[in-house]
Amino acid sequence: MTIPGSPHIAYRGDALFIEDRAVADLAHEFGTPLYVYSKSAMLEALAGYQRALEGRDHLICYAMKANSTLAVLQTFAAAECGFDIVSGGELARVLAAGISPAKVVFSGVGKTRTEMRQALDAGVMCFNVESDAELEVLSAVAVESGKTARISLRVNPDVDAGTHPYISTGLKANKFGIAHESAVASYQRAAALPGLEVIGIDCHIGSQITEIGPYVNALDRVLDLVEKVEAHGITIKHLDLGGGLAITYTDEAPPAAETLVRRLLARIDERGHGHRKIMFEPGRSLVGNAGALVSEVLYLKPGEEKNFCIVDAAMNDMARPAMYQAWMRIVACGLREASPVTYDVVGPVCESGDWLGRDRALAVEAGDFVAVLSAGAYGMTMASNYNSRGRAAEVLVSGERALLIRDREQAVDLFRGEHLID
Ligand SMILES: *Cc1c(COP(=O)(O)O)cnc(C)c1O
Repeated sequence: MTIPGSPHIAYRGDALFIEDRAVADLAHEFGTPLYVYSKSAMLEALAGYQRALEGRDHLICYAMKANSTLAVLQTFAAAECGFDIVSGGELARVLAAGISPAKVVFSGVGKTRTEMRQALDAGVMCFNVESDAELEVLSAVAVESGKTARISLRVNPDVDAGTHPYISTGLKANKFGIAHESAVASYQRAAALPGLEVIGIDCHIGSQITEIGPYVNALDRVLDLVEKVEAHGITIKHLDLGGGLAITYTDEAPPAAETLVRRLLARIDERGHGHRKIMFEPGRSLVGNAGALVSEVLYLKPGEEKNFCIVDAAMNDMARPAMYQAWMRIVACGLREASPVTYDVVGPVCESGDWLGRDRALAVEAGDFVAVLSAGAYGMTMASNYNSRGRAAEVLVSGERALLIRDREQAVDLFRGEHLID
């Protein structure tokens, strides 16, 4: 029995499997809460983008804030993928994974001078610059370091991606990018500043986008700008069309990455821009459906208005429900004959906002395992130590092989770096 949106996570008989491993066995072996990822699901998601881009000068830069665990980065790097970073910490992760900085783009509205210096020293492929003020600072830092910063401007196409307000980024009211109207002036400024080399244009309009329309609209706006900028004698070598493609959490039916990319490439060719290098920055769509958060049922607590299923994973392990009211599918790792009961699935954290799912029909008993699906993106990377809970362990599954890729945090990890006072 397959589960919508989760390739490589399916029931075989009564048992939930990830690739060729029973999820409950992994929970016994590695403990819970536990993140498990299917390597095949990640590589297949990437392959969708790659098939559409085959034969073109291109670079897919995985937006690693979705899941930045070193082994995940290695997995994508081995498949020729580049990376989109948003901090010095993410740069350090890329370097620790042995990845070439020549395939790294550096995004984000608030890069510090220190981060700029580190990225220049490492030799990143491109800085995606988001304001005039940042251009000035990057120019100064590059001159000081005796380096040239290759840049693209992240422009704000002012299109509505039709997504959740917290994850919509391409509207005028958002903090991201340079306004469409001022982009030509910003390019002229960039071209005139020392230490900078303009190489591209970038946009990213939001996340969990389920339609092709907003992408085509944004692309058209970007191409209009490219034509204007080049009319001023500034060459744009690459088009970076961002990330944001949705995955299936419940009944969303986003286009396949391959379909989306082919549509955009057709439009690019139609408008005579086919000679440019094409870049994408997918995050969620490469890893989201590849992962699950596995948790043990601690207590069943029946109530007058609500029944609670209290599990050992909490909002500190998976923040999306508490933070965005996100709906994530929750399934039992073993199917029981008993008729399901409707529960709110909640964690042990002392907050009413600590829930993973509301009104879920589950046939479970204490000691059973449940899996929060589509948890591969914005799960572990948003995990915290709230309530002094150590962060979960992570396991990468490939066929029958299950590799521990991150240890469960221990108590000593929780107060490392703290100082007692006399
Ligand atoms: C977060 C982010 C992405 C990836 O977004 P997804 O919705 O995870 O695909 C891409 N580019 C930039 C600049 C981002 O901040």
